[in-house]
Amino acid sequence: MTTTLALLGGKPVIDRIFERYNPIGAEEVAAAKQVIESGVLSQFIGAWHEDFFGGPYVRDFERKSAAYFGVKHAITVNSWTSGLIAAVGALGIEPGDEVIVPPWTMCASATAILHWNAIPVFADIDPDTYCLDPASVEANITPHTRAIMAVDIFGQSADMNALCDIAQRHGLKIISDTAQAPGAKVGQHYAGTLAHIGGYSLNYHKHIHTGEGGILVTDDDQLAERLQLIRNHAEAVVGSKGVTDIANMVGYNFRLGEIECAIGISQLDKLAGLVQRREAIAAQLNKGLSGLHGLKTPVVRDDCTHVYYVYPLDVSVKALGIPRSVLADALRAEGLSGIGTGYQNVHLLPMFQKKIAYGSRGFPWNSDICRRDVSYAKGICPVAEQLHDETYLGFAMCLHELSDDDVRLIIDVFHKVWNNLDTLRNAQARA
Ligand SMILES: *Cc1c(COP(=O)(O)O)cnc(C)c1O
Repeated sequence: MTTTLALLGGKPVIDRIFERYNPIGAEEVAAAKQVIESGVLSQFIGAWHEDFFGGPYVRDFERKSAAYFGVKHAITVNSWTSGLIAAVGALGIEPGDEVIVPPWTMCASATAILHWNAIPVFADIDPDTYCLDPASVEANITPHTRAIMAVDIFGQSADMNALCDIAQRHGLKIISDTAQAPGAKVGQHYAGTLAHIGGYSLNYHKHIHTGEGGILVTDDDQLAERLQLIRNHAEAVVGSKGVTDIANMVGYNFRLGEIECAIGISQLDKLAGLVQRREAIAAQLNKGLSGLHGLKTPVVRDDCTHVYYVYPLDVSVKALGIPRSVLADALRAEGLSGIGTGYQNVHLLPMFQKKIAYGSRGFPWNSDICRRDVSYAKGICPVAEQLHDETYLGFAMCLHELSDDDVRLIIDVFHKVWNNLDTLRNAQARA
């Protein structure tokens, strides 16, 4: 291994492109072909009818998903964004109700709340797990709070014991956005199954996918019915189905097709193996990167497993005296792709800074339904903000299918950069 950093003209450690992550194989091809040959690509009917629940592959995928995750009901949707919208609606969230959500997530966790004219309130994250900090959740509860949206970010569950305890004491509902953590465990349970409603994304970038799609999970019969109604034109169905509680029964077409569900059945069979491989890669990385000064490797809570959609790192840039951007440039120059600086601070998106979600006059904040002045100012989530602005580095684990040799090269990259920190500091000082 040459010692001169590639950033400063040396030879990069990695001189090849890693294989693309691709969980789709012959089984999915055969499954999709079978559906296409049947000619029935979707069998849903948006009226009260046996096909209100979809066709054979939809129902089979839902049965298998419910059995896999150990829940009473699994309900497929055409994206997890749709799933989150359906979840907030099914829980009966009212306009102006507050729902607590972390800023360190994909924007749909927050916009699903706004969708029902409810108000997202951002609570900070835990610096070790990057999931909601229960203490910050508690501090953000007001008389208007109705629910908590927990996000199992990067592949491990939020602290559901603590969050469920808070929810119970304050009479709140919990939604689990487990888009990034299918197959992660909390004790004997799968992440996502401990909330009133939880679920998983099946978009192309996730561990398993159907192109686009999502799966909602719940143990509650009534919530399951409401999710099914919102998925499929509720307003046209409630009358003939005999549903009398029509609150939040504006329905959508959130239906997932037969091809996607046939593919999903094969994907579900592969989930455990795919997750095991991510865990093995992470274990190899943990071992190889341990002891590098000022580099914090992932922290997994007791009794939990982590499925590593992202392998998160936190660098003590102050202790190292080198800005994160320089470290990231040095790592990338060595051929390491898939490394990202910062993640998300959803509260700082223009929509929240300008407080305009619908129309041009600041709805819902600038209206009677919003009962207090909710702050989205920089500073409300200091942990998430500092991680995003200064110290967090994330390695995307569902971008490439890494061999053990590939992982060894990645570890070599970090060691090379860390062996040259003085050089980087001096180059910085001269610049
Ligand atoms: C991917 C993702 C979503 C959205 O899922 P889609 O299926 O793309 O709509 C929501 N939340 C989180 C945390 C995600 O990672």
